[in-house]
Amino acid sequence: MSLRKPGGAVLVTGAAGYIGSHTVLALLREGHAVIALDDYSNAQRDVPTRVARLCAGDVQWVEADVRDQATVEAVLASQGVEAVIHFAARKSVEESCRLPLAYYDSNLIGTLRLLAAMEVSGVRRLVFSSSATVYDASQPSPVTETGRLSCASPYGRSKLMAEQIISDVVNSGRLDCVALRYFNPVGADASGKLGEDAATPPSNLMPRICLAAAGKSDPLQIFGNDYDTPDGTGVRDYVHVADVADAHVAALRYLAAGHGSAMLNIGTGCGTSVLQLLRTFTEVTGVDVPYTIEARRQGDVASLFADVSEARRMLDWSARRGLAEMCADAWRWARPDGDRALG
Ligand code: UDP
Repeated sequence: MSLRKPGGAVLVTGAAGYIGSHTVLALLREGHAVIALDDYSNAQRDVPTRVARLCAGDVQWVEADVRDQATVEAVLASQGVEAVIHFAARKSVEESCRLPLAYYDSNLIGTLRLLAAMEVSGVRRLVFSSSATVYDASQPSPVTETGRLSCASPYGRSKLMAEQIISDVVNSGRLDCVALRYFNPVGADASGKLGEDAATPPSNLMPRICLAAAGKSDPLQIFGNDYDTPDGTGVRDYVHVADVADAHVAALRYLAAGHGSAMLNIGTGCGTSVLQLLRTFTEVTGVDVPYTIEARRQGDVASLFADVSEARRMLDWSARRGLAEMCADAWRWARPDGDRALG
């Protein structure tokens, strides 16, 4: 019996990236047909094989840059696409300060061309991948969707500008969009066969914990233990990537039901400090993580976590996996003797 959902396929841009690939998997497991587009500029070429090993669904991989409007139009026209999930973007805060034009080119031009291709093709449902970096992090947490916005980097500004462009198109009556503002996605598929594997070295905490735990890097540098937080280290809202992926499936359901547009925080609603995360990681994996305390990292804030009541109310979605599962799954993927080998 086919599990395929009635209706058209879903186009996923940036499908081989971290959140993209887990979302493709979640869509396939839900019976959606997927067209998975990536240019592999910051993703591994074995991702399609990994996804295929985990789920024998209806997926077609297309190698293309989302800025290649003619190709995106051809894909949208030929495959009966009913909705698009747009991940394809550059995502390093630090790199964006060095290469602002590259960020605006990828993240803004990419979004503009995609929106134009959707308009030409008459596809009007979009799930957009945004980020909590659009919030002014000096405001008290939990932050709601109506919280103050202010971006400290070209990356953050590119996401906010893309949200604003999308919102103009929504207001013109030509598009319905659910924009998801992710807090701190971490972890990996529970199989240990799919996880975070960007071409560029990681700057985020969880992948760096894994590198230090595996002895593949110097000790973890903890950036500051003098913040105004319970233990002095930075507090964030870590959310399992599989829960983030499920939020996209829920957003598609919301759009298909004709509820219109929304802008939603995606997190757990819980703040966790660097030291708390380290402690949980060691409890769950049995591996000690060597670390040193360093100066604060420029641009970092003490505390940022989400109010997630809107996502619960509008999408009937909330994160199901806790911190222990995030650590266990991240390590199953990252550990040197782990399960990631395709065999
Ligand atoms: N952090 C750290 N060492 C690292 C990377 C991050 O101490 O090598 C801290 C960082 O200061 C922040 C938290 O971990 O308090 C989360 O950082 P990440 O870069 O993962 O996310 P973001 O700051 O963008 O929310």
